Amino acid sequence: MSEGLRLPKFSLGVGDRFAHQAKAQLAACVMASDAGVEVVPVWNKSNREHTIIGSEPSQTRIEADAAVKALKWTKPYFLDADHINLKTVERFLAPCDFFTLDVAEMIGKPADPKNVAAFVAQHPELVGTVTIPHIEKPFKTDAAFVTGVANQFLAAVEDAGRIYRHLVEKKGAGNFIAEVSMDETDAPQTPVELLIILAAIADEKIPIQTIAPKFTGRFNKGVDYVGDVAQFTREFNEDLATIAFAVKTYGLPANLKLSVHSGSDKFSIYKAIHDGVKKFDAGVHVKTAGTTWLEELIGLAEAGGAGLEIAKEVYAEAYAHAEELCAPYATVIDIDPAKLPKPEVVNGWTSEQYTSALRHDQSNKAYNQSFRQLLHVGFKVAAKMGDRYLKALEANEAVVARNVTTNLYERHIRPVFLGR
Ligand SMILES: [Zn+2]
Repeated sequence: MSEGLRLPKFSLGVGDRFAHQAKAQLAACVMASDAGVEVVPVWNKSNREHTIIGSEPSQTRIEADAAVKALKWTKPYFLDADHINLKTVERFLAPCDFFTLDVAEMIGKPADPKNVAAFVAQHPELVGTVTIPHIEKPFKTDAAFVTGVANQFLAAVEDAGRIYRHLVEKKGAGNFIAEVSMDETDAPQTPVELLIILAAIADEKIPIQTIAPKFTGRFNKGVDYVGDVAQFTREFNEDLATIAFAVKTYGLPANLKLSVHSGSDKFSIYKAIHDGVKKFDAGVHVKTAGTTWLEELIGLAEAGGAGLEIAKEVYAEAYAHAEELCAPYATVIDIDPAKLPKPEVVNGWTSEQYTSALRHDQSNKAYNQSFRQLLHVGFKVAAKMGDRYLKALEANEAVVARNVTTNLYERHIRPVFLGR
C-alpha cells in the first residue's frame, strides 16, 4: 500500500521549541548509532506550539537541515507537522514530510448511517469471534457492537481521509509519512476497537505508517507515567498484536507501528515498551516534546550568572501567569499549587538547587514535579523574552547542549531502544 518515503523501525520524535537544539538532539541519535541501534530523529512541533511561540515550521526545517549537515548524518530524518487538520495544515505543507493527522475532535461525531451500515456489511470478519494471534482470548462481538464502534470512529477516519487526500494533492503520494493520532481524547481504545479503526483506515486507503492510540493511564507533560503499569504492559502488547494482524488482514503498510505521544519522561513504562517491541519484532515511534526545552533551562541554570538569572526570571513569570499558561494543557498536567515554591524563594537558589528541583531525577529528594510541569508549559515566557533568551542559549551553548543530549540518550534512547 505504501511506496516512497518509509519511516524506519525506530524513531524518536524530538521537539525543539526555539529551534536551537537540533544538533544536540541529533547527537543523541548518533550515540545510539554508535551503540548499535538505528534511531532516526523526527522533529515534531504542533500548530499549538508554533502559535504560542510565534514561530514557523520553515524555521524547524532550516535548523534540522543544518544539524544534519553539521553532524554528517546520512540516515533518514523527518519533520512532523504534529496534530494538524485541514484548518491548520497550510504552513506545514512545504517544510514537512511527516504529518500527524489529528482526528480526535471528530471522535464520537456521528458518521452517515449509510456509511456505518456499509462498513459493517463489508466486514463480516469483525462480527462474532475475532481471534487475533498472540492475544490470549478471542474477542466476542456482534453487529451492534461493531456498529457502535463505527459510530464512534468512522467520522474521524473519514476526516483523516480528507486530510490525507489533501496532502496527496499538494505533496504527491509517497512524498510524506502519515500518522493518525487519537491520543488527545477521553477514553483509551481497546485492541478490538483499534482493529476496527485500522480496518476503516485501510478502507479509506490511508497508508499510515504510525498510529497513536490513547493508552490507559495518564501521560502528563514532562513527568512520569501515572497509572497501572501492568495494565499498560498488557494493552501495549495487545496493541502490537493487533497491528501485526491488521497489517496482514487489511494490507496496511508492513512497517506500521505504534506512536507513543507525550512519550518523554515516561520512565516507568519504558521497559514494557522495549520488551513488547522486542517480543513482536515491531518498531515504535516515541514522541518527546517539551523535555528538550526543560533541558535548556537546566543548562542555563547550571551555567550560573546571567543564565541562572534568566532561568529564575522564567519561573517568576510562569508563576505569575500560571493559570493562563496551564489552560491549553489542562488535561495533560497535574500541578499541586501548594508544592510550587514562591519566586522569592527560587530567586535565592543556587544553580544546584534550581537544577535539582527541575531535572527529572526521581531519586533526588529535591526533585519537584509541580515546579517541572509549570516550567514545562512556561515556554511562552521565554518566547516573550525573544532575543534575550536566544542570546542566553547561544552564550551557554555547550552546557545546554550537554544536558539536551544526555537527557535524550541516557534517559530516553537507552531504556526504550537499547533496553538498558
Ligand atoms: Zn499527541
